[in-house]
Amino acid sequence: MQQLSPEDAQAARDVFPRDDAPTQMEDHVWRIPLPLPFALRSVNVYLIGDGAGHWTLFDAGLGLARDEAALRAGLERAGVPMEALSALVLTHAHPDHIGLSGLLHATSGAPVYMLAREDERMYRVWGELTGPALRAIVGFFAEHGLALDESAADPRVTAVAGSDSRDGRESREPRDGQERQERRRQDETARAIARPKGFSLPPLDAIRTLEDGDTLTLGRWSYQVVWTPGHSDYHMCLLRSDGFFIVGDHILPAITPNIGLFPDSHPDPLGDYFASLQRVRDLPARIVAPGHGLPFGAPGMTPGMTLAERADALREHHIERSAAIRALVEAAPAGQTANEIASALFGERLRTVDDRRFALAETLAHLEHLRLRGGVRMERVGAFYRYLPAAPGRGPAPDPASDLSSTAIANKRERAEP
Ligand SMILES: [Zn+2]
Repeated sequence: MQQLSPEDAQAARDVFPRDDAPTQMEDHVWRIPLPLPFALRSVNVYLIGDGAGHWTLFDAGLGLARDEAALRAGLERAGVPMEALSALVLTHAHPDHIGLSGLLHATSGAPVYMLAREDERMYRVWGELTGPALRAIVGFFAEHGLALDESAADPRVTAVAGSDSRDGRESREPRDGQERQERRRQDETARAIARPKGFSLPPLDAIRTLEDGDTLTLGRWSYQVVWTPGHSDYHMCLLRSDGFFIVGDHILPAITPNIGLFPDSHPDPLGDYFASLQRVRDLPARIVAPGHGLPFGAPGMTPGMTLAERADALREHHIERSAAIRALVEAAPAGQTANEIASALFGERLRTVDDRRFALAETLAHLEHLRLRGGVRMERVGAFYRYLPAAPGRGPAPDPASDLSSTAIANKRERAEP
């Protein structure tokens, strides 16, 4: 590896997210943070070697020129040229995790591993700029009360943002500055998506699909593949044989992953998410490596935060939110659209069109979770769906997280049985 000139070294420092930089976590394991033009600010990729020349990259950034520069600088710092990558693994197909996958494959020839069916979504949603997937999302939000023609920003980016990145973290900038900054972020995102060929996705024949429970061998390491639907229907986590646990956006240390309902989602993403939290909480993880924020879980790393503690806190958060949403539905017996409920729930915090889309998708995930358990009803009135209190005499809805036989996982188990 050649030495960086002082100018290049300064440029490399400037490309990483503020207050963060590539970190060698242990032998042959690097966390490389890449900048994002969202409130989330950064996304992690992990570079893992086996000590014998096999290098795997986990996740692939958003695909802006800025995060490409940061990835190149991070690989350089680790002393691993992009050409030398042996494998690329994608935890899920949200844009901030796949954007450079095409470039990485083209440069290195590395195969691209992801859970089966997440690849179909990747090409369907991100493989073209407009078309049926985009129209379906716009129509879906409109039926639930949110008209989207107020913004040119691409509604597909809604799933990117972790929810509640705003909770208790008010920016020190004045509101005006914040709105300007928000608009700049949206512009930048729109530009990223509007690259001539959309995202830089790998060709279909580069994809190697995995199934829940598979063992993935990468060089001298082996990983257990754990299907964790919720944030995305075919999201996966990977548990390395020594307890290094790559969790993507399933478990985040400082914010709550966005659990949203979209037109082609499984019918109950929140139920799936509760089940997925349960699936991972007791795994023998030595250290938890998330898609956003700092790794945690090793003794002395972040006091009071083990994998089980964080999984339980995320579960509690959603149980409380479900209760709040149910109370809002019950307060309006004549019914409301999901967008009205989202506005009442999030109020002032919804500053941008992105915020409103995120809030609506998340509110819908809760409403449908409640509706499937008899906690609320839905009816169609004209062009809109409205949510109403459950019919009298139905009694209280069950504990929203008690039903752990989530639809997606239960269906899959049935299919897997002979
Ligand atoms: Zn993410």
